[in-house]
Amino acid sequence: MSSDLVIAIDGPSGVGKSTVAQGVASRLGLPYLETGAMYRALGLEVVERAIDPGDRQAVEALAAGLEMSLDRQPDGSFEIRVQGEPVGSRIYGLRVTGVTSRTSAYPGVRERMRELQRTCASENGGVLEGRDIGTRVVPDTPFKFFLTAAPRVRAQRRWRQLKDAGAEGLDLDEIEREVRTRDERDSSRVDSPLTWDETYRVIDTGELSVAEVIEEIVAVVSARAPAAPEVRPGS
Ligand code: C5P
Repeated sequence: MSSDLVIAIDGPSGVGKSTVAQGVASRLGLPYLETGAMYRALGLEVVERAIDPGDRQAVEALAAGLEMSLDRQPDGSFEIRVQGEPVGSRIYGLRVTGVTSRTSAYPGVRERMRELQRTCASENGGVLEGRDIGTRVVPDTPFKFFLTAAPRVRAQRRWRQLKDAGAEGLDLDEIEREVRTRDERDSSRVDSPLTWDETYRVIDTGELSVAEVIEEIVAVVSARAPAAPEVRPGS
């Protein structure tokens, strides 16, 4: 598979980007990078080292010196390693999620992550999913998709995801508040805010199934990139 093909999928929290990006990548036989997990890996380090997330200088210094690597897996995903160790599922904890939402706004953090993401995209190609992939990380790619859905719909999806993962005592209103707070932070930061422009195809996923969203993206890419032979499910 050509490493020239880079697909950017951006959008707010809980819209289903990861599932869609994985599906598109597997259909097209491309690798897949979840950039949010990189910001989360840094958030986890901030928590574990008891650094104050409000201390921009300390967080940026950590980001600049952190040994982070992306290790390509047989299934096409990238395992994120910090100081050689896989970060694992601890990055998805509530505390790390809140801290990450704050620390990812710092320009020094974003610069470091963008650099790693660009290197990964130029060496491997693939589907990159995040908030600023099409605007800042790989702005030259012709394949940019922005997924949206109302905050309540996204909160419901998050609720389902957490419930399926075994969480109990979930409060939908609280999850919606958390989704809105993260949106607000991501959209209002000065460096690479969450946004889209006319070079994107915007897909409102509110009324669509995951399969339909994947189908739409695969159809657009396949029509314009004949070098992307579609890998049919089960083939
Ligand atoms: O996508 P996910 O919810 O896992 O991302 C975690 C956090 O990382 C987001 O709340 C956002 O603040 C940040 N992020 C970002 N830019 C990206 C991906 C994620 O700022 N490209």
